[in-house]
Amino acid sequence: MDYFEKFTTKLVQEIGSKDGAISPIIANSASFGYGNSQNGEDIFAGVSTKFMYARSGNPTATKLETILSHIDNGEGALATASGMAAITAATMSLLKSGDEVISIGGLFGGTYSFFSETLARFGIKTHFFDVDDFEDIENSINDNTKIIFLESVGNPNMRLPDFGKISDIANRNNIALIVDNTLTPLSITPLNLGADIVVYSTTKIVTGNASALGGAVIFRSLHDNSDKFLTNRYKELDPFIKKSFKNALIINAKKRAMRDFGLASNAFTSYLTLLGLETLPLRVQRVVKSVEKIVYELDKAGFKINHPSLINHPQHKRYKEQFQNGCGMLFTIDFGSKQRAFEVLDKLKLIFITANVGDSRTLALHMDSTIYSDFTQKEKKFLGITPGLVRVSVGLENPDDIIKDFLQASNV
Ligand SMILES: *Cc1c(COP(=O)(O)O)cnc(C)c1O
Repeated sequence: MDYFEKFTTKLVQEIGSKDGAISPIIANSASFGYGNSQNGEDIFAGVSTKFMYARSGNPTATKLETILSHIDNGEGALATASGMAAITAATMSLLKSGDEVISIGGLFGGTYSFFSETLARFGIKTHFFDVDDFEDIENSINDNTKIIFLESVGNPNMRLPDFGKISDIANRNNIALIVDNTLTPLSITPLNLGADIVVYSTTKIVTGNASALGGAVIFRSLHDNSDKFLTNRYKELDPFIKKSFKNALIINAKKRAMRDFGLASNAFTSYLTLLGLETLPLRVQRVVKSVEKIVYELDKAGFKINHPSLINHPQHKRYKEQFQNGCGMLFTIDFGSKQRAFEVLDKLKLIFITANVGDSRTLALHMDSTIYSDFTQKEKKFLGITPGLVRVSVGLENPDDIIKDFLQASNV
């Protein structure tokens, strides 16, 4: 787990300032003075990196962006108002009416509705696939395909993608690969595995304590003259490529999405996110270990558990080979029926019932009656939502306490 160790040092050092206030400064201003007219012109032309107006960024967000970009080996990042704002920024900065998206895995309920309902209203079509539908994925690519969107872990189906195979499809066909890495920060580094853009809901484990709704998009730099973003498919990027080759994706997203859709984060959210980020390596490491212990014990006690660390899981081999740093904080239990799921959930003493994930506290939720309640039977089947399905997000408590809580609650 070298990556965790590396960032244990780096994050606390980078977030704290050795000169002046150690805790990050909250730059709570909606606008910024330019000093003189020439500065104003330079700021608007992008020649000066001084701040323009908080919709285009603020100093606290910049600090967060720099560090998040560093973690993911990116060229730059944008802090957004939420995870959905990050997904909106990443996708809407590249898409136009008539384009198509390939969405693989999961899928987080909000993301699924965004693709299936909202983008559809704007004439953008999304094809959905399971993580291992390699042939169908490749066959669905056409001239209008702009984005392959992938979740690092299926939520809540717990299926794991083969990053190598999917990024190979994206790169051979010159299609942008966007990975939602919300559930596996530090455990998985998508840009190192062939992705172009990474999105996060920092609301979850990055902040980790339910104090701030936020998100982030991390971009790679453009490589060289053979870069996929120089192909005709992405010709709308041309003006930004001419302006700043390496940063083209970031400038494009800033202008075409952050500025025009108004997706920016605020300084206080960035501050709270930085505070959480400081301890991220410690928390991820602990949670990944706890999940493995909890699912092992509950599986042994007869619970119907879905988690790839269990040897009977169809993707156990992939978990061992490609997810050495774990696959996040989630697992699911199928209680067989809604009634039984409610019965057990309502008897839990420690565990919080809520739709969030990645919190310091262990959280659980019945899927079919909440997030997926207005989905069709066909959609539920695709997403693996069964009547008794409960998703659990493991927190920082002693794992033995969590195991005991489930055992006592199910003993009705
Ligand atoms: C929560 C979540 C989102 C959306 O994030 P918000 O901050 O709630 O907007 C997107 N993707 C995944 C995987 C999530 O868990």
